[in-house]
Amino acid sequence: MSNKQRVNQWVRPEIQALAAYHVPDASGLIKLDAMENPWTWPDGMREAWLKRLRCVDVNRYPDPKAGALTEQLRQAMAVPPAMAVLLGNGSDEIIQMLALALRGEGRSILSVEPGFVMYRMIALWCDMDYVGVPLRAADFSLDMPALRKAIAKTRPALVFLACPNNPTGNPFAEEDILEVLEMAPGLVVVDEAYAPFADTSFMSRLGEHDNLVVMRTVSKLGLAGLRLGLLAGPPAWLDEIDKVRMPYNINVLTQETARFALEHQDVLDEQTAAIRKARQDMFDALQTLDGMTPYPSQANFILVRTAEGRAKPLFETLLKNGVLVKKLHGSHPLLEDCLRFTIGRPEENDRLLELVEAFTRG
Ligand SMILES: *Cc1c(COP(=O)(O)O)cnc(C)c1O
Repeated sequence: MSNKQRVNQWVRPEIQALAAYHVPDASGLIKLDAMENPWTWPDGMREAWLKRLRCVDVNRYPDPKAGALTEQLRQAMAVPPAMAVLLGNGSDEIIQMLALALRGEGRSILSVEPGFVMYRMIALWCDMDYVGVPLRAADFSLDMPALRKAIAKTRPALVFLACPNNPTGNPFAEEDILEVLEMAPGLVVVDEAYAPFADTSFMSRLGEHDNLVVMRTVSKLGLAGLRLGLLAGPPAWLDEIDKVRMPYNINVLTQETARFALEHQDVLDEQTAAIRKARQDMFDALQTLDGMTPYPSQANFILVRTAEGRAKPLFETLLKNGVLVKKLHGSHPLLEDCLRFTIGRPEENDRLLELVEAFTRG
């Protein structure tokens, strides 16, 4: 038997059918594709950070509970005192922990589409069924009749709702999420990855519903390179999920750096405020352009729909001129002719708009 045959025999067919997660090479490009915070730290802050790192002992295992960091995150994210907190190596790892803890024969994960692709991906890795309920085409809001039907039929172990949603940028109506919490037989995860840019949150509602947990990340806040996410919720749930957490999953450099960053929350807040302001400016500017329809966003990106058939040529024109955005056209029927622009620094946003404007003038 050739090794290829052996691989085919043993690697699950659904894994073999996957394409590996593709990250485009962005070297030399203005990078507006991945919802990163475009701002670095002021020089003085960078120096102070390096001084702190000098004292980190990398020969030792990290604090397994990341106690000090967890306390700071509780404060920064206003986690209600009675709720438990669990940290992950990015919120992606938390999604995986949730699936590992709740998976089982015939069990499923339910989410909405277009949505964050990792819910479906991790369901597949963990051999769970995945049900993606389409959002309403007009405004990407939750399609409640469809959700009622799907939840009643599948009785999902896990429901994921990203609020604001990626890649559409809109938050879901609070009363709709509350109804999902009432209907869902299992755990409902409100994924608030974009909380720093949004006006609403379910964090303060934790405890009001037994099956509600809230997930956050520091990635979109400006610390994507650290890989740090957080799950907050009732101890009864989190004590169980904690059992499938890798020991020492938050490394010493991440713990120390995140602690340092949270001591400089004012810098992060300033950057977030600048991004929110730039988002409004970008939205207003896009709205004036012929054939470009931006969708209202409470995240650090804007979804835009081009005129029919124009998304791919616009994407390629931008790329040729050194600007990388996300092409969503072709990824879901509701995203025909759509691109996603992450908000960058002013000069980056200006360059993007200049190119889009020239393109629409044709
Ligand atoms: C970016 C994103 C995450 C992943 O965050 P990490 O903490 O970087 O793994 C989770 N959920 C949504 C909806 C996102 O857009």
